[in-house]
Amino acid sequence: MALAEDLGLAREVEDFAGGAGYSDGAYMPLDELAVPITDFGFLRADACYDTAHVWHGLAFRLDDHVQRFRRSCEALRLDPGLGDAEIREVMIRLAQLDGRREQMVQIICTRGRVSAEAPRDPRRNQNRFWAFTRALDAIDSKLPEGARGLGVHISDIPRIPPESIDPRVKTFHRGDLTKALMEAMDAGADTCLVVDMAGNITEGPGFNVFAVAGERIVTPEAGMLEGITRSTVMELAGELGLASESRAISPEEMRGADEVFISSSAGGIMAVTRIDGTILSNGAPGPVTQRLAERYWAKKTDGWHATPIPGLA
Ligand SMILES: *Cc1c(COP(=O)(O)O)cnc(C)c1O
Repeated sequence: MALAEDLGLAREVEDFAGGAGYSDGAYMPLDELAVPITDFGFLRADACYDTAHVWHGLAFRLDDHVQRFRRSCEALRLDPGLGDAEIREVMIRLAQLDGRREQMVQIICTRGRVSAEAPRDPRRNQNRFWAFTRALDAIDSKLPEGARGLGVHISDIPRIPPESIDPRVKTFHRGDLTKALMEAMDAGADTCLVVDMAGNITEGPGFNVFAVAGERIVTPEAGMLEGITRSTVMELAGELGLASESRAISPEEMRGADEVFISSSAGGIMAVTRIDGTILSNGAPGPVTQRLAERYWAKKTDGWHATPIPGLA
């Protein structure tokens, strides 16, 4: 592979079939990327990350992901040690090495190892930047064949309060979401939504949520990560002449909606057709969800907000 040679890697294309990794200036097959056990990213879940996706060889809203990652780093006082343009470059090179036309590219900054002189001062840890690729795995692609939309459980488990951990920062503080997800799966649902301390809907494990009432779409305004797909949906809604609003949404309103859908980089726009015991839009993706999803994929095919990955686009 020409690129592997450019990067000084004596590697075969096949070595990257399972994904590509990056740390400390070096590119390698994903299997070889290993985090030292003493990195606080591992020991304390002290890290932030972001995940962009490549579809048909086109990276979607790459700069928005890099900028959100930068904001996450700043919020946690983490320094990845690379500028935005350098991070972007690493992501594109990793995607090239990976070689799949559909993939996810994840970037991470960990707190790193403690400093020998000041082991109790987190300001002195050696922060570290990591990146790797993996398969594009949408939540709804794991549904059994013939299933029409996702079944969701609304959990009573509240998201960690924003005063403790800011949900707008993309972090690995997901114990609340994982607990709710296992509870949902035990109850036969595909995934879950969690509430805030006031009982309003926030988001699910790695996605935002929307309710549709007539020609209007609503989504929670606080207590969740501000997804890039979420803002893409708002933009598409405007183009389709749908009114959109972000505000507090109760579980009752969610259950009574005409349609519900979720949004994430991995899956795009995915219909929810069951919430606990309630069937929505006759158990099939509703018309507004379908119009939004169709426009989303069509515009992406046309190169909307796209960064072509050389050799893959
Ligand atoms: C990443 C993520 C989302 C979705 O954000 P996108 O930018 O659309 O992929 C939503 N909620 C949480 C908790 C996330 O980690």
